[in-house]
Amino acid sequence: MAAGDRTKISIRDVSFDYADKKTSFEALKHIRLDIRDGEFLCILGSSGCGKSTLLSLLSGLNRPKEGEILVDGKAVRGPGPDRAVVFQQYSLFPWLTAKGNVMFAIRQSGRKYTRKERAKKAEEYLRSVGLLAARDKYPGQLSGGMKQRVAVARALALESDVLLLDEPFAAIDPKLRLELQELVSTLCASRKKTVVFVTHDIDEAILLADRIIVMEPGRIRTEAEVALPHPRKRDELIGTAAYEELHRKLIAGFYAQVQENIDAEAAL
Ligand code: ADP
Ligand code: MG
Repeated sequence: MAAGDRTKISIRDVSFDYADKKTSFEALKHIRLDIRDGEFLCILGSSGCGKSTLLSLLSGLNRPKEGEILVDGKAVRGPGPDRAVVFQQYSLFPWLTAKGNVMFAIRQSGRKYTRKERAKKAEEYLRSVGLLAARDKYPGQLSGGMKQRVAVARALALESDVLLLDEPFAAIDPKLRLELQELVSTLCASRKKTVVFVTHDIDEAILLADRIIVMEPGRIRTEAEVALPHPRKRDELIGTAAYEELHRKLIAGFYAQVQENIDAEAAL
């Protein structure tokens, strides 16, 4: 699924501080990045390097200290239905069923559907993530993997062009994770979404991304295009020359940074 050349999201020289009365911590330093319309971008980096912070700025939950973020040429000023978010921890409403959660998102999309249409659409979205049979269950009755499927269905139900995901499958066992990765890859490609997917898992990034950005604390360290056709199957990828080369390049960027952190701490 080749991404278009049009820029969908423009991150322009963005810096961000976590500050309170006594201290200030510079979590992002002059980030510059353009994301193409329809691109699947993975942001890879070790824990604490600012991935979630960058996503919070894209979602509008936090505002940059300097610089600005544009979506379709318009500055992001807060959360909006044009950007759906899936978080690592399950963020479903516990008092609504799976179907109720998805119907709520359809209402949030701002589109004018009747209640009957919302119910029908919610069932379609639950079917697309393989959860139609569990539509009447509450989050407390669902496994972790099922809850993340509902979260994905709910994010899709917003019918936004942009989908932001923050390590959505990090807490899920490896077999199920692979299933969910392939599901998200297929669904996003068929709906031509612009996706920003945060992960610390190199294999996950190679499986999903058109392009991978590797972060180091507060900054972008390097990037790599992933010119492999979609949809990808992990079994078919591993061992190919293209996969091995990418893996080597990313490991080098990733672990060089981890080693620098260790060296810096040792020098303290
Ligand atoms: P990542 O998602 O890559 O693990 P984060 O974006 O969560 O990293 O955090 C980046 C840095 O900002 C870390 O050093 C973290 O400790 C710090 N940080 C995150 N949230 C806060 C906060 N609310 N207040 C102060 N510092 C924070
Ligand atoms: Mg994070």
